[in-house]
Amino acid sequence: MSTIDEVKQKLDIVEVIGQYVKLTKAGRNFKAVCPFHNEKTASFYVFPERQSWHCFGACSTGGDVFTFVMKKEGLDFGEALRLLADKVGVSLPSKIEQGPRKDEKERLFQANEAAAQYYHNLLVNSPSGEKAKNYLLGRGLTVKTINDFELGVSPNAWEMLMTYLQEKGFSENELTDAGLILKNEEGKTHDRFHNRLMFPIRDARGRTTGFSGRVLDDSLPKYMNSPQTAIFDKSGTIYGIDMAASAIRTKDRVVIVEGYMDVIVAHQYGFNNVVASMGTAITEKHINILKKLTKNIALALDPDAAGEEAMLRCVEYENSLNTEVKVIMLPSHEDPDEVIKKDPKIWERAVEKAVPVIDYTMDKAVSRQDMSTASAKSQVANSLLAIIAKVGDDIRRDHYLTKLSKLAGISYNKLEGVLKTYMKPKPQRRGVEPLSTSLLTTASSPREEYCLAILLQYPELKKQDEGLLSDYFQNIVNREIYCAYLETDDAIALKEMLEPVIREKLDELLALPQPTNRIPDRYHDSVLRLKREFLQNQQLIREEIFSIVSQSEGKGADIERLKQEGLELNNQLHLVSIELGHEKRRTGNGRRNN
Ligand SMILES: [Zn+2]
Repeated sequence: MSTIDEVKQKLDIVEVIGQYVKLTKAGRNFKAVCPFHNEKTASFYVFPERQSWHCFGACSTGGDVFTFVMKKEGLDFGEALRLLADKVGVSLPSKIEQGPRKDEKERLFQANEAAAQYYHNLLVNSPSGEKAKNYLLGRGLTVKTINDFELGVSPNAWEMLMTYLQEKGFSENELTDAGLILKNEEGKTHDRFHNRLMFPIRDARGRTTGFSGRVLDDSLPKYMNSPQTAIFDKSGTIYGIDMAASAIRTKDRVVIVEGYMDVIVAHQYGFNNVVASMGTAITEKHINILKKLTKNIALALDPDAAGEEAMLRCVEYENSLNTEVKVIMLPSHEDPDEVIKKDPKIWERAVEKAVPVIDYTMDKAVSRQDMSTASAKSQVANSLLAIIAKVGDDIRRDHYLTKLSKLAGISYNKLEGVLKTYMKPKPQRRGVEPLSTSLLTTASSPREEYCLAILLQYPELKKQDEGLLSDYFQNIVNREIYCAYLETDDAIALKEMLEPVIREKLDELLALPQPTNRIPDRYHDSVLRLKREFLQNQQLIREEIFSIVSQSEGKGADIERLKQEGLELNNQLHLVSIELGHEKRRTGNGRRNN
């Protein structure tokens, strides 16, 4: 959860606004005389379920708790955030205390890229690279693949890379910060990697962030990675994402394997939607990167204990993906690269036949035990119920309960009773049910992010006026980024304008893989979609107010005005829908858009 979400969750909008204006109850909601314009009768409403407010009088605006405080106190977003965070005792990173500046990070990327070229050159062109090159050719890689992935070898020496990069103008500090050299106990610096096969690791934008080095003999550790740096975070790194992103999008599926060689061989055989996590664990960061490209995730991990635990972790991500994560079962536990090299068709079929993680786990668990004994039954049922409890969807949960009942020979009712002890109570906000999660203004919105990412990554779009209003962004972080974007043309200045808690989001958006063609059309299209969403939300709010006004003392004039607004909104929505319809026909129906 982001800091902003944390602050927001600890606040109750009714309580906060109640400190500024006198609220009176109106059904499930509250109303007041608007604090922002002069009026006699109340047209200012607060909706606790949505944690939002709206004035349908002269201001005709609304927002969430942050926008209210910003407007009332005359603060900018950062100041309002600080004020509210103080109130609920959440501490925020200070604006002065910043991470490395953008140009400093840029140097780290450059140092890693220069190192990648150095290692690659050594492998391809130097006699000392012979052994590593033969190893790769022996594992069936082509020279083209070696070049595509820029594979290399680190010299069997301690200072060669360091000297080379220092000659190129990188300082000792920069090379340390980039994770390329390190200090020994005597304080002497030397190359981090030596005599290893080098796999450069890149982010989604193709920038080299670090390395994984594999030994060429039997020494240990077999693999060594770059350390955590300002540009390398192992838990959020996906090997091959730069090469795979567009295929993942078009195939609408990603396959996660365990090894670098698996990724490289898969790509060599044209299976270019294959990536690897760094190490076995699949983290939420990985999922967040991948789900912008596809929701369909298939795992081809080693079926050992670590692999199975990683697969199980994914059950937790299913709720946010809104679909099942699948497991690819390979013949006799071979590694993906072996299977592909032997017969690509077998791999293709295995991917097609992937089974949901839970089914896989259930079948596995039952087949391992002698289910005729009471203790095995109890153990298997309990471990599987703990997993089934994580399934958010009622129908799927019921499906698996029924399946378990059959597999284990335990009555459905009994299992259902035990399942309840594993289910966490759903967190609720003061006993009210959220009306619609899409209206929670800090929830992530792929549609908004898609639009913002295009804008940020294609600066020339700034001239293309599509009438994009900041109000179209429901997510306050996205809105802040858009407002800052309007004020400056310089990426570094933009970042500095933003609160530290928002900068991370900006980086994410800048790294979000984008299509490369028909950008102006895609931007036009995405603004229309945001506009439609905005109008639909306005419509919802208007309907809610309409129902309150018409039930209460109901001033005829108010009702008339609300009806008028409704007609106006309908008109606008109609126009947007027509335009989107044309758009669809012009660009061909099937195109996926976030
Ligand atoms: Zn007002």
